[in-house]
Amino acid sequence: MQVFAVHGPGEPVKEIEVPTPELAGKEVIVHITHSGVCHSDVHCQEGHFDLGSAGKLPIAASGVQWPAVFGHEIVGTVVAAGPEATVQPGDTQYIVFPWIGCGKCQACREDRENYCPRGRNLSVGLRGGFAREVWVPDERYLIELGDLDPAWGATLACSGVTSYSAVNKVLPRGEEDVVAVIGAGGVGLMAVAILNALGHQKIAVVDVSDENLEIAKKLGATITFNSKVENPTAGLIEAAGGKIAAAIDFVNNGATASMALGALQKGGQLVSVGLFGGEHTYPTTLLALQVFTIQGNFVGSLPELKAVVELARTHDLPQLPIVELPLSADNINASLEDLAAGKSRGRTVLVAD
Ligand SMILES: [Zn+2]
Ligand SMILES: [Zn+2]
Repeated sequence: MQVFAVHGPGEPVKEIEVPTPELAGKEVIVHITHSGVCHSDVHCQEGHFDLGSAGKLPIAASGVQWPAVFGHEIVGTVVAAGPEATVQPGDTQYIVFPWIGCGKCQACREDRENYCPRGRNLSVGLRGGFAREVWVPDERYLIELGDLDPAWGATLACSGVTSYSAVNKVLPRGEEDVVAVIGAGGVGLMAVAILNALGHQKIAVVDVSDENLEIAKKLGATITFNSKVENPTAGLIEAAGGKIAAAIDFVNNGATASMALGALQKGGQLVSVGLFGGEHTYPTTLLALQVFTIQGNFVGSLPELKAVVELARTHDLPQLPIVELPLSADNINASLEDLAAGKSRGRTVLVAD
């Protein structure tokens, strides 16, 4: 199999050949037609996540072995299947669920593989989507693409399922309850559209760009707030007409987390999603007195990906501008560099010939 591997932290990808495994059980090999490039691939290539003053979290701690094959937004066709698989090699395109667990622990048995302590995500524990082909340990991780656009379908496996899973954590909520989405970039805007599609009424969107806030309004935001003000917490409460029931923080730095906690009503819920780095301090007594819940969100589960794919089929979810480039080492490297430099507009999806 041809893969585009990174040989160590900070190295560019190079195309190399790795052995094609003999397939057992329900294992499949997927020929990749579309492979999205995500900002977390940049962190992976750099070799660490930024933890603010707590330093850096090396990705080797997550099970990455060099040379590593990153990329986790995969659409492709089955080219080979194990003896027990029911899926047939052919032209049918599938979205590949990448957040694969050990299959044995409590979380995995409950279909919450993204909570598995021994996760083997495609691109971390297992080789990922910067490749011509990818080995997938079970056909159950394939979701039929149907008539969705394949480049956009690939991104549902990451930004789509992340948004859905975060929204899923704060719903259902009463009709008076304001749910705030902080950060109206791609993932945040998707969350706004999902909240709207799931029938939530009061959706507040916070960003520092009026342009992004205008897009959010078109997707269902009922309240918008530009947080480039002296006291963003007070500003958010005022814009929302009172304290808010829940906040989903797609930025998740010290400033946004503090703003969200300050704006929550009693029993409020903060879901932390962004990986921008930072920290917050908050009076622990108030956490108790205000009965707050603070919860992290990282990607999503297989049932959640299936749900967001279904939602994409039945609702008009926003499709971010996607740049399609031929799948090659040069284009992967250029895309990662652009993302790292903040030069990327929308998503880049690599398309195999
Ligand atoms: Zn991603
Ligand atoms: Zn597990």
